[in-house]
Amino acid sequence: MLDFTYHRPRDLGEACRLLAVYGPAARVLAGGTDLLVALREENRRLAGVNQIIDLADLDNLSYIREDGDELTIGALTTHGEVAASPLVRAYAPLLAEAAGQVGSLQIRNRATIGGNLANASPAADTVPALIALEAVAVLISSQGERRVAAGDLLAGPNRTALAAGEIITALRFSKLPPQAGSAFLKLGRRQALSIARLNIAVILYWDENGRVTAARIVPGATLPVAARVPAAENLLVGSVISEELARRAGEIVGEEMLRLSGRRWSTEYKLPVIAALTRRAILQAAGVKTDE
Ligand SMILES: Cc1cc2nc3c(=O)[nH]c(=O)nc-3n(C[C@H](O)[C@H](O)[C@H](O)COP(=O)(O)OP(=O)(O)OC[C@H]3O[C@@H](n4cnc5c(N)ncnc54)[C@H](O)[C@@H]3O)c2cc1C
Repeated sequence: MLDFTYHRPRDLGEACRLLAVYGPAARVLAGGTDLLVALREENRRLAGVNQIIDLADLDNLSYIREDGDELTIGALTTHGEVAASPLVRAYAPLLAEAAGQVGSLQIRNRATIGGNLANASPAADTVPALIALEAVAVLISSQGERRVAAGDLLAGPNRTALAAGEIITALRFSKLPPQAGSAFLKLGRRQALSIARLNIAVILYWDENGRVTAARIVPGATLPVAARVPAAENLLVGSVISEELARRAGEIVGEEMLRLSGRRWSTEYKLPVIAALTRRAILQAAGVKTDE
């Protein structure tokens, strides 16, 4: 276990002051489900970190709020709370689904949505859903507040574009309208016989004739960082979803994985699986019944 000094600020102002004092030597602690494991393993990403700023007393960062056309989720809201929220289930069902598939019940009761984004794991479950929703992260530091698209916070595998001393306070996004369908699908380790998780978030918007007007397709654990795949999205725009179209979009996601990640030992398995997962998610978001 790495040695550290523990701080428990009473409010956000005090947390920002502590982070400004200790700079890169400090890390904030939310649910601790990633950070405590990394401290215990003496993970090299924590080299030089010796100050832990526990956000446990910042109750006002745990909420789910409806604000006109938007939902705002406090960064310390747990995955369990997100998954069970009637607001999230009604207006962002893919996010409720993603949060409900994180780890076990014990993990979901501790782990937070802000921590999932800030940890920047390529396999994080809520991140593809947040990117598909075009969520914006609200960040605060001793320098003030700024807003950044959730996807733009991912600088690389396990790396964020958070400046030293910045805390994610909330995630905001527009509610999905009735003319939108969405899906989040995940292939867990257990089903995949210990090969890395794959997940995908899809949102489709359509017109009164059922033609897709906009699409968001975001695979996770496939690309170096979760990101939209515009070539697959563009293929769907202007068409009514069919099995064939969904299959082709799945192939494009696979091709994008090859282009950005290159061929690896896992490619042979991942390529057909991400293509099939994408196809299924598109059909599910479009409400197309299949025999599978
Ligand atoms: C057994 C197990 C199973 C898991 N299964 C899954 C899974 O199925 N899917 C999945 O996505 N994840 C999974 N995880 C990973 C983990 O639970 C999630 O990533 C979780 O959301 C992290 O949130 P946390 O609050 O615990 O973060 P912490 O561990 O407290 O923090 C993680 C990182 O984010 C930073 N951080 C946290 N909150 C903020 C904030 N508000 N502002 C700025 N930085 C912040 C911390 O400094 C740290 O670097 C699993 C973990 C374990 C131990």
